Amino acid sequence: MRKFFRGKLFIFLTVICICLPHFQVNAAERVYEPDNDLVIVIDPGHGGDDPGTQGGRIQERFMNLITAQALAYRLNMYDGVTVYMTRSDNDTTLSLTERAVYAKSVNADFVFSIHYNACVMHDRFGMEVYTSRIAPYNGYGYQFGDLLMRRFEENYGIYPRGVKTRKGLRTEGDYYTIIAANIYRKIPAVIIEHCFADGNVDAVHTESDDQFRSYGETDADAIAEFFGLSSTSLGIDNSGASETLVSASTTEFNDMTYEDRTAPESVSISVISVNALENTVTLKIEGEESDGMMMFYEISTDGGWTWNDPKPWPDSDCFRGTYSGSFEVTLPFNTGDRPSIVVKGFNRYDAYTKSNKIVFMDKFDSRHLPLYRTDIK
Ligand SMILES: [Zn+2]
Repeated sequence: MRKFFRGKLFIFLTVICICLPHFQVNAAERVYEPDNDLVIVIDPGHGGDDPGTQGGRIQERFMNLITAQALAYRLNMYDGVTVYMTRSDNDTTLSLTERAVYAKSVNADFVFSIHYNACVMHDRFGMEVYTSRIAPYNGYGYQFGDLLMRRFEENYGIYPRGVKTRKGLRTEGDYYTIIAANIYRKIPAVIIEHCFADGNVDAVHTESDDQFRSYGETDADAIAEFFGLSSTSLGIDNSGASETLVSASTTEFNDMTYEDRTAPESVSISVISVNALENTVTLKIEGEESDGMMMFYEISTDGGWTWNDPKPWPDSDCFRGTYSGSFEVTLPFNTGDRPSIVVKGFNRYDAYTKSNKIVFMDKFDSRHLPLYRTDIK
């Protein structure tokens, strides 16, 4: 269905930036101070009877292991760190609690759980890191995740979705067992969802094993920078201050990891101009999300039956919590089209609000301006 738009819907953007209150990013102190015998556990997610997401080129358990092995190999090249893995083959089935018990048994200081993402509609994109809701763990994961996502955006152009938290269903603790079970044992843990294995947008990032390997190496370098580890053999010196760490609190919840489960307050569209000769419509799209941020949007030109691939909401910046309050797009049509346009605006937690509809009464025929209505819900 989505192919309908490919190549055809070429969107021209202009952006009016509304700068919302944001969080300044500066070089900051390391919030986690490792002792002399730092022990890191790398946890390749899934395995054995649990394949993880099957929406990608290969099952997630394979992707996770390739990344985790490259991560462990490179992290071992740093000085003063011991690295363990929860599994080293693809046949081992481990429960989430067993992974945390293992981490405790080797006296882990930190657990990094390695994953690739997927979603029901197979239409998401980007990277996210989950951290605990509980201090000080929340701050550790926030500072690390922020640093990691900056590297992935810079190195690979993988879209950052931010450091997130998720509340347990019946508790104030964490939803994800790999985080909760480690925190229970006083071990900080984060989940790294490198990108989406099952969508069109990130398909380019999951084409080869070499990509999965290099993500593991980038993970290792970010972990090393987070802890201030240096490597004689790699010639990397992280002993000084870091220029790229975000300041994070280890006593209070970090607002940038806030779980926003309510949909954006409003998303609306209006027509700026219709060009009858060129069969284009220029739209203004507006969105408001006061307890979070707008992150991406989808457009339908058939009244909501099919949707184009999601696009980043202009100026959406998960590092600062800012986005554009309004922007313009120009949609091309063909003679004979009678579009019915509607937009979904999504926040960082994939909750969306649908806009009003703009329904054209006439077909585009290059002779006269087609009439339309904008007030349809
Ligand atoms: Zn997974």
